[in-house]
Amino acid sequence: MSSDRRNFLFHSAAWSVPAAAAGPAPSPAPDLEQRLLRAFTGMACVDTHEHFLPEKARVVHPADLFTLSSHYLLDDLVAAGMPEETRKFLTRKDAGDRERWRVFEPYWKAARFTGYGQALRIAVRDLYGVEEITGETLPAIHDAIRKISRPGMYDEILRQRARIRWVLHDHGWRAAPVRPEFPYLVLARAFDRYIMVRNRGEVRELEEATGVSITGLATLKQALERSFAQSREYGMVAVKTTLAYHRDLQFHAASAADAEREVAALLKGERETPQGKFRFRNRPFRHLEDHLFRHVVGLADSIGIPVQIHTGTFAGHWNHVQNSNPTHLNDLLFDFPRVRFDLFHMSYPYQAELAAMTKLFPNVYADFCWAHVLSPTAARRALREFLDTSPVNKIILFGGDYWYPELSYAHLVMARRNLARVLTEMVAEQICREDEALELARMLLYDNAAALFGLDGKRG
Ligand SMILES: [Zn+2]
Repeated sequence: MSSDRRNFLFHSAAWSVPAAAAGPAPSPAPDLEQRLLRAFTGMACVDTHEHFLPEKARVVHPADLFTLSSHYLLDDLVAAGMPEETRKFLTRKDAGDRERWRVFEPYWKAARFTGYGQALRIAVRDLYGVEEITGETLPAIHDAIRKISRPGMYDEILRQRARIRWVLHDHGWRAAPVRPEFPYLVLARAFDRYIMVRNRGEVRELEEATGVSITGLATLKQALERSFAQSREYGMVAVKTTLAYHRDLQFHAASAADAEREVAALLKGERETPQGKFRFRNRPFRHLEDHLFRHVVGLADSIGIPVQIHTGTFAGHWNHVQNSNPTHLNDLLFDFPRVRFDLFHMSYPYQAELAAMTKLFPNVYADFCWAHVLSPTAARRALREFLDTSPVNKIILFGGDYWYPELSYAHLVMARRNLARVLTEMVAEQICREDEALELARMLLYDNAAALFGLDGKRG
């Protein structure tokens, strides 16, 4: 948009359109929507993706409003212009509440209506009983957070309040698996540390984690397989990858010989994968990455567990969204027809591509984890579109994708609201009956994910 055009809009009557005209259409049947929402709030849910901090650590170091904001709200505050030093300052608990609020407030005003802002407001209102987030209410919010910070808080928030039955837990960038803290947390494990090992120092870390001495491709695979087997012992139900944060998702069928040559260069220290923005252009071990990723997918295939893939935009800043387009995965989907691929985050902003792929490929599932906070509106529209496009058993409604269970609770409130609005529309348009809407909701909230990850036979 040109700046002349922007100025015109800014000063013209275009800004004075009534708010209702710009917001979502009113519900076609408010009573029905309320009734469905109440029913959905009582239904059990599978949460397909989380990164919770250990409860043990939360109890010892209670969070505050600013730590809760660090995932993901502060990303929006930085996008709004908050300097990095201010972001760091907010993490200093020794800096007083008043001082931190003073630097937080101007950016909070800019971001409080984004999906992340909405989630924080819901969490504070529902779980801490404080209606508004302001400088005046901050002491009451902090008091409420301290009171809830005791053993059992995760069970209370997740199981009792949110009615989450199972959580697929991803503990991220680690060389060795960690046994989940509670029986209802089940492991989804990333092997990205092995697949995109970047330098000799990282090779040593993999050796320490597995006890395997890595001297070439075969031993690197052996280390990976040992970690895979250990994860399985800890109850792993899915493989996960976030490689799209670093490179595109086209995993070619690279030969073992090409991969072997690159391992040799890696072990000799001839080159390493750059970090920062240069990593997108320069992948000196790309054949190795492609080869190993396919090896991991083969391991998942051998024990019949699904592969969860990050697709769509990223947390943080400064990345290449086009790398995350799910259509890059096409060759892989052909080559592993038995593996069920759970594609994350409704591939935002590539929802239409994901809908087409969920329809085209029997082995592709569309997962709305992170989606209802990324954009509540886009998630609602996409859900409606997906229900037109794809068989309902291929769609999974919810994964919180947070460090803090309070925010996952809030995220699920938003997801259930979206579901109620979409199914109200479908009943009002006589696409389905109310009893069918309840059946659809049970599938989207629970049954589809429980079947995909084999959860119902487990003890939680
Ligand atoms: Zn995540």
